[in-house]
Amino acid sequence: MPDSPAREPADLLITHGLILTIDRADTTLRDGAIAVRGAEIIDVGPTKRLLDAYQPTEVIDATGQLVMPGLINTHTHSPAVLYRGLIEDLPLEAWLEKLWVSERQFVTPEYVRLGAALAQAEMLRGGTTTAVDMYWHPEELAQAALESGFRLVAGPVYFDGDAPDRQDTDSREASGREFLQQYRHHPTIIPCVMPHSTYTVSPKSLGRARDLAERFGALLSTHCAETATEVRTVSERHRYSPQGLLDELGMLDERTILAHCVHTSGSEIEQLAEKHVTVSHCPLSNLKLGSGVAPIPAMQKAGVRVTVGTDGAQSSNDLDMWTALRVNATLHKGVHQDPTLITAREALRMATVDAAEAIGLGGRLGSLEAGKLADVVILDLRRPHLTPLYDVYAHLAFAAGRDDVHTVIVHGKVVVRGRDMLTLRENDIMAEVNVLARDIQQSQR
Ligand SMILES: [Zn+2]
Repeated sequence: MPDSPAREPADLLITHGLILTIDRADTTLRDGAIAVRGAEIIDVGPTKRLLDAYQPTEVIDATGQLVMPGLINTHTHSPAVLYRGLIEDLPLEAWLEKLWVSERQFVTPEYVRLGAALAQAEMLRGGTTTAVDMYWHPEELAQAALESGFRLVAGPVYFDGDAPDRQDTDSREASGREFLQQYRHHPTIIPCVMPHSTYTVSPKSLGRARDLAERFGALLSTHCAETATEVRTVSERHRYSPQGLLDELGMLDERTILAHCVHTSGSEIEQLAEKHVTVSHCPLSNLKLGSGVAPIPAMQKAGVRVTVGTDGAQSSNDLDMWTALRVNATLHKGVHQDPTLITAREALRMATVDAAEAIGLGGRLGSLEAGKLADVVILDLRRPHLTPLYDVYAHLAFAAGRDDVHTVIVHGKVVVRGRDMLTLRENDIMAEVNVLARDIQQSQR
C-alpha cells in the first residue's frame, strides 16, 4: 500500500454540506467541505479531498444542510430591543422624542450591556454574525460581544443636547477616544465613529467626529435623509441637505456608511457613487415609520455600494436580517413594477460580501474562501418550506428564515450549535430583561 501523506491539522471540518461561497464566481459546491484553523478558513472543496487532507479536532456533519457566510447587518441600535413594541404608530420625530425622554431615565452602562446581550443572542441565533451598532456606552456593546462571540462594529456616538446617556460631548468623546485606542487593532471589534445625524449634531461636533475617525483610521456612520422632514429641517437650518452638509464637512468617503438615504436626489446618488460611500438600506424601518422607500435601484445603477440593515428593534421590532433581505429583494420590484430589479443573488451579496467591504474587511470577510475569516452559518434544508431545492439563492431571498439557522460560527468559534446558544445564558438574560421591562413600562403611564 502506498504511504498516505500526513494529514494537516485543522480545528474544525464542516463536511457534506451544500456550500454557498458567495465568492466572485458565485461558486456552489455539492457535498462540499470547509476546513478552519484558528479564526480562518484554510480550505474549501469537495468533502472527500478535505477529509483526506486534514486531521480535524472537530467535525460538523452538514448533510442536508446549507453552509454560507454569516449575514452582516450594517445598521442597528441593538440595546433598543428593550423598547421593542412599546412605542408604536407615531411619525419618526414624535416617536424619537418619546423614546429619548424615556431612555434618559434608563440608559446606564448596565442597561446597555443587558440589551446588547439580548440582541446579540437574537442576531446570532438568526445567522447574523456582525452588526454596525450605534448606541450609547459602546464599551458595553463591546464587552457583550466579547462574551457572546459576536463580531461588532461600534464606537463613540455624537449627539448634541439632552442625550439619553446624560453625558456631554466632551466626556463622551474622551471615553470614545479610549475605545478607539483600545480596539484599533482588535480581531473582532471594529471601531466606528457614530455622529447620530445632521439634525441632532451641530456642524462643529460633526467636524470633531470626522477628525476623531480620521485620526484613528476608523469607519464613520450616521443617519442620512431618513425622512422628508429631516431634509427640510436640515436644509432650512444649514442651507445644505443632510448629505450636502456631510459633504461640505468632508465626511463622505469609502469609510462612510450612511443609514437610510431615503430622500436622496439623483445628483446626490451620483455623489455617493463617486465618493464610494456605502448606503445601509433599512427597508422595514422605513416602511414602518412611514419614511418612504429609498431609491435603491437607481443607486445600484449608479454603482453605489448598497448594504442592508434592520435598524433598531424599537422601530422595526426585530433584528431579523432574513426579513430585511426579503423585503429588499421584493419591495423595489413592486414599487417600480419591474420584477427584474434586485435579484436574489444581488440581495445576498448586499448582506454579505458588499457589507464586508463596507466595514473595511472586503478581503477578509463576507464569503467562504481560503484565507478569509471563518464566520459561517449552517441552515437546515430538510424542511417543508425549503423542499424541493432548485435555486438556493431564491430560497435564501424569498423562503428561508432565521428559524432555519442551525449552527453559527464566528471567528472560527462555534457559538450556536444545533440551535443551542453556547456562549450566553439566555434564560438569565431574559429574566433580567423582564424585571427591567416592568419599570420601563411603568414609566410610560
Ligand atoms: Zn437608526
